[in-house]
Amino acid sequence: MFFKIRKIVFLSLVGLFSIPVLGQETTSDDPFVLVIDPGHGGADAGTLGTRRTKVYEKHVVLDVALRLEKLIKDNMKDVKILMTRRTDVYPTLQSRARLANKNHAHLFLSIHCNAAANSQATGAETLVMATERASANLEISKRENAYIVLEENHQENYKNFNINDPLANIGKSLEQFSTIRSSIVFADLTQKYMCSTGGRKDRHIVQAIIYVTYACTCPAVLVELGFLTNPAEEAFLHSEKGKDAMALALFQAFKDYKARTYDISHPIAEVESSPAPVAESPVPATSDKIEYCVQLTSSAKVLNTHTNVLLRRFSNITYFKEGTMYKYTTARVTSYAAAQKDLADARKKGAKDAFIIAFKNNEKINVNTARSLTGE
Ligand SMILES: [Zn+2]
Repeated sequence: MFFKIRKIVFLSLVGLFSIPVLGQETTSDDPFVLVIDPGHGGADAGTLGTRRTKVYEKHVVLDVALRLEKLIKDNMKDVKILMTRRTDVYPTLQSRARLANKNHAHLFLSIHCNAAANSQATGAETLVMATERASANLEISKRENAYIVLEENHQENYKNFNINDPLANIGKSLEQFSTIRSSIVFADLTQKYMCSTGGRKDRHIVQAIIYVTYACTCPAVLVELGFLTNPAEEAFLHSEKGKDAMALALFQAFKDYKARTYDISHPIAEVESSPAPVAESPVPATSDKIEYCVQLTSSAKVLNTHTNVLLRRFSNITYFKEGTMYKYTTARVTSYAAAQKDLADARKKGAKDAFIIAFKNNEKINVNTARSLTGE
């Protein structure tokens, strides 16, 4: 987990190790450089899940990462894979990002599992760097960031990263706007395949400020494979079948992403196709993105979503600013039907005045207009 709740996430993994640069044979002169980052490791177990076993997040994500590495090595000859770790050790977050930057990586993929107080929480999500304060989640930023201060020399090593005010780091990210757009292209694909091939519920793309995606100069995403705090999903992610399915889903996402980017300029590069057929689901339109969410409340000042009597009942709160008002909403979904379910849930939790709002390409639009665009 990279600390639950969505909004801004600051990844922090500690580590006192030099950067392990492993597993990079290739037959191409100009390979696609992929960094695979199994989250946590060593003293940092990540989420412990239901604690029914001693298999924790750090174990599951390493296992899936190694399966992914093998799939790519077996099927693509023009990819150089760099693993941030391949054993139970804990590289610092800084060293993980540096590995990508030093090697001019094309893509950085951090693999995690999720956790929530609610054992029913389920599904896969992909975190990308936030591009604006309003789209980022402050709580998750703070939570995710919490681990950095446990690293040795963190004051020196992270002096350019504002831990106390994660949102203050967003300005720098804007310099990387085009890489964030590429990250979103890849994130759409990881969501697509984690849901189709992996059979996970779609929790969508979450904008956050995660240290590793912040510090990488290449497109970078962090996937949450599912919730280890959900007994059924934990059993799936512990199973051979489940780990194979999630590794295959990430392989398919990577293969599609590479085909759309690198392969265009390296047309003979790819040797073999995907090892398994994929259930096709529509690729999210990159042009008009219609989203819905439930507005729970609004306020002229920023609310503390941990302590606010209403908002603390929800786990996926985000907000945007409209005029001088902060509008607090549930996580965005891509269908009106899903928003209706969230609305019913919100009313049950006491948000009597909640209502559905809609966005087109991140701009608020009339709900009926949105429904006509999504055919609902
Ligand atoms: Zn994690």
